[in-house]
Amino acid sequence: MPDDCLFCRIAGGAIPTDFEHEDDRVVAFRDINPQAPTHILIVPKRHIATVNDLAADDADLVGHMMLTARSLAENEGIAGPGYRLVVNCNPDGAQSVYHIHLHLMGGRQLRGLG
Ligand code: AMP
Repeated sequence: MPDDCLFCRIAGGAIPTDFEHEDDRVVAFRDINPQAPTHILIVPKRHIATVNDLAADDADLVGHMMLTARSLAENEGIAGPGYRLVVNCNPDGAQSVYHIHLHLMGGRQLRGLG
């Protein structure tokens, strides 16, 4: 676990954070700068810097992140109205924390990407 990785420190408990969900593989907590009424980050406990660093045998972990997001969306009451899941990668993708995370955003009408 890199000592200087913010999300490793949050996931490992070094930075006290209220988790919306925790299991053996992921934690989920509210974004510090929310872009929507619900904005939760789903973060693997294991350090993986970017999507480019995922291995083939991480497929189950990535699927677990998405299913965790769906469950959180249900808890937040936004599953029916809808929500957005986003993963940013590297500078052109506007990634700012280099430990992969899935953004769950909803609770308002989001603008289309087109
Ligand atoms: P990204 O730009 O995709 O790397 O997203 C990183 C996200 O982490 C941003 O939306 C930040 O607002 C969020 N963030 C940064 N520091 C914290 C923190 N200490 N607690 C919760 N969210 C954070």
